[in-house]
Amino acid sequence: MKIIGVGRNYVDHIKELNNAVPTSPVIFFKPETAVITRNQPFFYPSFSNDVHHEVEIIIKICKHGKNIEERFANKYFEQIGIGIDFTARDLQSEAKSKGLPWTLAKGFNGSAPISDFYPLSNYDDLNDINFHLEIDGRNVQNGNTSLMIYKVPFLIAYISQFIMLKKGDLIFTGTPKGVGPVQIGNNLKAYIEGEKLLDFNVR
Ligand code: MG
Repeated sequence: MKIIGVGRNYVDHIKELNNAVPTSPVIFFKPETAVITRNQPFFYPSFSNDVHHEVEIIIKICKHGKNIEERFANKYFEQIGIGIDFTARDLQSEAKSKGLPWTLAKGFNGSAPISDFYPLSNYDDLNDINFHLEIDGRNVQNGNTSLMIYKVPFLIAYISQFIMLKKGDLIFTGTPKGVGPVQIGNNLKAYIEGEKLLDFNVR
């Protein structure tokens, strides 16, 4: 199983980090060891002083494919979930300034807490899904999938030109504005359409 992240996929988040709007999707990986399931705690890493939350809709791939055509992309996923793309912003900023990869800033242990996955048929329209994140009961990030620059079928077609997708792979589809630091002791709750799907603590 692999985890593919999409960076800079919401204009309002690109602006808050003073990044340029990409001309093609920005793609990165997290290793399988980044995953946290079943609402287990996230342990704040010793190598960073600025770990940021990025709440994101996640697509779960349901069959193998490469060079997938955009018009057939919907055959390659049946379930969605929600997760946090934890990012060591201090490490990422240093890497960006040197033109180096984001691997350690994005792929460290526990950097991908994920919810369970639910059938797409639970939702009326993949391109109009509301999601949000609360920290200690305060609403900090609100998104709607209609605001994605690159929509899911395009992402699947784009990624699968380079990287074969396999059943069980996860795609983190990008974060809306409102990213910021987490602290030890915080409680994070992530929701799709008002339904709480993720609820865990930072230790
Ligand atoms: Mg992200």
